[in-house]
Amino acid sequence: MSKKTPGAERRDLAELERPALEALLEASGVERFRARQIFRWIHRHGVTNIDAMTDLSRQLRATLADAFTLTTPALVEREKSIDGTEKFLLRLADGRQIESVFIPDTPAMTFCISTQVGCAMACAFCLTGKMGLVRNLTAGEIVGQVRVLVDALDMRDTRFNIVLMGMGEPLHNYDETMKALRMLADEHGLEVSPRRVTLSTVGLLPALERLAKEPLMPNLAISLHAPTDLTRGELVPINKTYGIAEIIAACRKFPLKKRSRITFEYVLLAGVNDSADQARTLAKLLANVKAKVNLIPLNAAPGIPFERPSDQAIDRFAQVLADHHILVSVRKSRGRDIRAACGQLIVEGQRKSPAQQLAVIL
Ligand code: SAH
Repeated sequence: MSKKTPGAERRDLAELERPALEALLEASGVERFRARQIFRWIHRHGVTNIDAMTDLSRQLRATLADAFTLTTPALVEREKSIDGTEKFLLRLADGRQIESVFIPDTPAMTFCISTQVGCAMACAFCLTGKMGLVRNLTAGEIVGQVRVLVDALDMRDTRFNIVLMGMGEPLHNYDETMKALRMLADEHGLEVSPRRVTLSTVGLLPALERLAKEPLMPNLAISLHAPTDLTRGELVPINKTYGIAEIIAACRKFPLKKRSRITFEYVLLAGVNDSADQARTLAKLLANVKAKVNLIPLNAAPGIPFERPSDQAIDRFAQVLADHHILVSVRKSRGRDIRAACGQLIVEGQRKSPAQQLAVIL
């Protein structure tokens, strides 16, 4: 309806935290409470265009449309697994594509959200890692996935958890990830308390130390995958920069709420990291950490040079940990038939060359 002001760069409402929106509107003479209304329309009611904000006057909507855009990821494809898990392929404003996953009844409803297009970490068993990092997601794009899923699944009145375990390494996109968590937690938005959010990371040490000082703190999951630097270095290349001892030391200092624990994720790979000896070493490593271990039997895929251990080997590993009084669970892999399970998210045709990936890490 309204025309774009020539020469003026329009801000994207989807990218603004509520206080920033309040300040921007106030500066142009609009009452502060309007920011609250606009934020609620976008985040709580899920509108995707300014004209749908029907309790704002036509004139204000026209003024807004002149000064702002409102961007929402487009739902390209939706695929449902026999176990109820659903994978969503979303297209961003620049044409890049990402995947988000809905996992029902775990027992809670869970959204698995991406923080980057691709990933620079190149873990040896992860398909997303094969893409390399294409780019970071903006906070609006991270929150946008949640807005789209809430809408597509009709979950506006249903509680859900969020795990930052989709494509990307959240601590490698620190500022936008934290901004997204603040927007998601906003009392005028979806009100997803950080207690219902889990951030999973390979353990980028400086970012982990920064996270420890955040006022708004998600649950923490560390992708460990091996109890020694030698083995972990082969699986998670960044371990050569930030080794296990430093990560565990940071975890010991990490401010945890009462009764809460850090989750250590451990992808089980046959003959690589699944021996009883390695389980004992892991138990010793975590002996003085408020930890729980989540074993993830490998989700095999073409191009991934590892195998999933036998059920016996998985049970044996879990039993050794339990015998050493380490809390342990085995992750049931969901959505494998539609390639929506851990480490299976990949959007073809967006790969970067290894040289480009390195440039991003360094
Ligand atoms: N980059 C973050 C979050 C994304 S991955 C991280 O590494 O923690 C979420 C979890 O899935 C991680 O623990 C990751 O190691 C695991 N994963 C990756 N590929 C997998 C595969 N093929 N099978 C099982 N789990 C996998």
